[in-house]
Amino acid sequence: SVIPDYLTEALGDVVSDTSGEPAGYIPELAAADPERLGAAFATVQGEVYGAGDIDTEFTIQSISKPFAYALALADRGFDPVLAKVGVEPSGEAFNQISLEGDTGRPLNPMINAGAITTHTLVGSDDLKPAERVERVIDGLSAFAGRPLRTDEAVCVSEMEHAHRNLAIAHMLRGHDILTEDPRTVVDGYTRQCSVRVTARDLAMMAATLANRGVNPLSGERVVPEPVVRQVLSVMFTCGMYDAAGDWATQVGIPAKSGVAGGLIGALPGQIGIATFSPRLDRHGNSVRGVSLFERFSSDMGLHLMGTP
Ligand code: GLU
Repeated sequence: SVIPDYLTEALGDVVSDTSGEPAGYIPELAAADPERLGAAFATVQGEVYGAGDIDTEFTIQSISKPFAYALALADRGFDPVLAKVGVEPSGEAFNQISLEGDTGRPLNPMINAGAITTHTLVGSDDLKPAERVERVIDGLSAFAGRPLRTDEAVCVSEMEHAHRNLAIAHMLRGHDILTEDPRTVVDGYTRQCSVRVTARDLAMMAATLANRGVNPLSGERVVPEPVVRQVLSVMFTCGMYDAAGDWATQVGIPAKSGVAGGLIGALPGQIGIATFSPRLDRHGNSVRGVSLFERFSSDMGLHLMGTP
């Protein structure tokens, strides 16, 4: 196939770009090898094409957010989730301490306030916090098609510096959006963020969204089709932090980035795409990942609003 050659060439074109910095606010992440670089495509038929570091594990971080949102919608139904987390783009940074004025409802599930709330909506109401974390990890694993596990060192490192997320959780508790102990909730959310994945896993997770909720390899239906439509819509409008508008216009693919350097995109009915490169731009998105997606989108005409 010509795809691996194409991917190798694309990586070669961005490798000299060493701008940006790995995330600094989690000490374990700051220690990541910044030169890592990989890209993978997974088709809805289950073929995976890749180049570079596609089997290197790193933590999923915010890329867990759309998948946890999908699980919450599947487990609880739309209304209970929408009652607690909105779907409006915030145009703000991921860790902004902002909630909807009168209700205290987080604006969307892709910023931390919404993601912390969404974490508590996975599984049934009577789950204990540890069981809920298990349900989240099992769900992420079903999207990937292999069992995933957490990175304890990253998790502990992040919890020691989780002051902003704790502040957000306390505000949510104050508004009764959260009904549990804020520290327990942030601990569970941080575990969710510390799940280890490879670019290959992320491409397959994105391909499961592209394949209407069915994992192309295992054949398992992970979430129902209406859930996928909801998740992809929110990724399209809110997936790239405060650069979501630039992304929607220039790349035009529903996407989500994470501070460990991962980036995914899902094209309905076609492919899941993932890139990995730890240096981030000022919005917190992978510098080389953004360049790669811009190139993929323009070379292959992937912009969803473009004319085929
Ligand atoms: N664990 C990170 C946080 O909540 C995730 C951030 C991200 O990837 O954007 O701060």
